[in-house]
Amino acid sequence: ISAAEQAVLDEIEEQEVDFLRLQFTDILGTVKNVAVPARQAEKAFTEGIYFDGSSIEGFVRIQESDMRLVPDPDTFAILPWRNCEDGCSARMICDVYDTSTDEPFEGDPRRVLKRALERAAEMGYTVNAAPEPEFFLFEEDEDGRATTETNDAGGYFDLAPKDLASDVRRDIIYGLEEMGFEVEASHHEVAEGQHEINFTYDDALSTADNVATFRTVVRAIAAEHEYHATFMPKPIPKINGSGMHTHISLFTDDGENAFHDESDEFDLSETARSFLAGVLEHAPAITAVANPTVNSYKRLVPGYEAPVYVAWSDRNRSSLIRKPAARVPAASRIELRSPDPSCNPYLAIAVMIHAGLEGIENDLECPDPVRENIYEFDEETREEYGIETLPSNLGDAVDALEADDVIYEALGDHVAPKFVEAKRQEFEEYLVDVSQWELDRYLETF
Ligand code: GLN
Ligand code: MG
Ligand code: MG
Ligand code: MG
Repeated sequence: ISAAEQAVLDEIEEQEVDFLRLQFTDILGTVKNVAVPARQAEKAFTEGIYFDGSSIEGFVRIQESDMRLVPDPDTFAILPWRNCEDGCSARMICDVYDTSTDEPFEGDPRRVLKRALERAAEMGYTVNAAPEPEFFLFEEDEDGRATTETNDAGGYFDLAPKDLASDVRRDIIYGLEEMGFEVEASHHEVAEGQHEINFTYDDALSTADNVATFRTVVRAIAAEHEYHATFMPKPIPKINGSGMHTHISLFTDDGENAFHDESDEFDLSETARSFLAGVLEHAPAITAVANPTVNSYKRLVPGYEAPVYVAWSDRNRSSLIRKPAARVPAASRIELRSPDPSCNPYLAIAVMIHAGLEGIENDLECPDPVRENIYEFDEETREEYGIETLPSNLGDAVDALEADDVIYEALGDHVAPKFVEAKRQEFEEYLVDVSQWELDRYLETF
C-alpha cells in the first residue's frame, strides 16, 4: 500500500466514512458508481473491485464482461451534499482493468486520456488544461421535473438583486471547495439563467476528473435548492448556449511553459504554433468528440459567441481558437472554444492533445490569425481567407471523425468504433423524429 493510499485509509477512519463510491465514466461521459462499504477500501487498493461491465454503455461485449476498478487515491473526496449524520460517503475515481488480460482496459476513457499524456511525455511534455463550463439553472415543476424556466433576468456579470440564482451558485461553490476545487471565478453568463464557474488549471488528467466531478456536484447542489442544472449545450433557441472553452498548454520536463515566447507578437512559441495548427487541421473530427450530441450543433451557429469557423485569433470571439493574453509566462496557453459541457472530458481533451502533438511532430505551419468578426464574412471572404466551417450536424461530424485517422486512432480500437456506432444511432433517431418546430410550422398550413 502506497503512502497516498494509506492517507486515504486514515482519512476514512478519521472522518468516519461509511460508504465509498467508486467512480468511472462510460464512453458517453456519464459518471458511473459502484458503492462499497468503506472498510473495503484497502482491498480496493490492493486487489481492485470487480464489477460486471456488460451493463455499462459501450464498455464490453457480454462474453468478456468482468472488469476491475482500481481507485486513484489522489481523487479521494468526501461528498458534501450527503448528510453525514447517517454516515458519510466519499468517492474515488478509478482506473478500469480488463480481468482477462489484467491490463488497463482500452475502453476506459481515462485510459484514452492517459495514452495521450504518454505520447506527450515521450515528446518531453506534460499537459495542463483548464475548462470553462457553462450551465443553465432552471426551475422545477410541481413534480420536480426540469423546465426551461429561469427565475432570473440577469445578464453577463450582473449582480444581485437581478441575479437571484447567485445563492444557489454560492452553495455550489462551497460544495466544490469542499471537494477540493480551487474556484477562481464565477459569474452570471450572457443568457438568462446561465452561469459559469471557473476553477484553476491542473494537469490534463486531473482537469478531466474535475469536469466529471463538477457536473455531478453542480447538479446535486442545484437539486437541493430545487433547481435543475443542465449542461445541455443549447436548451433555449435564439440565445447563447453553454460552451466549455478549454485552455491548454504544454510544459517541458524542466517546468517551462513550452507555449511561451515573449519575442513573438502573440507570445506563441513555434511549438505552440504547430500545436495550434494541428488542432485547426483536425478540428472537424475533434468536433464529433467535443460536441457529441445532436443539440451541440444548435449551439455552433453564428451570432451566439460560439465558434462556427476554423480559424484562430488573439481577440475576436467568433474564432475556434483564441490566444488569451497571459500575464505571466506560465499562463501562456491556447483556448479551444468549440467544446461544450455535454462532451466526455477525457475523450475531448485526449483528441485535442493528439491533434496538437501531431501538429508539432509534422512541424505544421500556423496560419495567420483572423482578427475580424468572422460571423460577418460572406462565403467569398471566407474562401479568400481559406477559412473552413465546422461540421453543421452530428452526422457530418461523425463522418469527419471516421475520415480522420489521427483522431480516430486517438480514441483507440475499442472506443472509436463504439463511439461512432452510438453517435450514428443517436443522429438517425433524431433524423426520423418529427419535432415541435415542424408541427408548429406545417400541421395547420398543409
Ligand atoms: N456561451 C458562449 C458559448 O457558447 C460563450 C460565452 C463566453 O464565455 N464568452 O461558447
Ligand atoms: Mg469564461
Ligand atoms: Mg463563458
Ligand atoms: Mg473563454
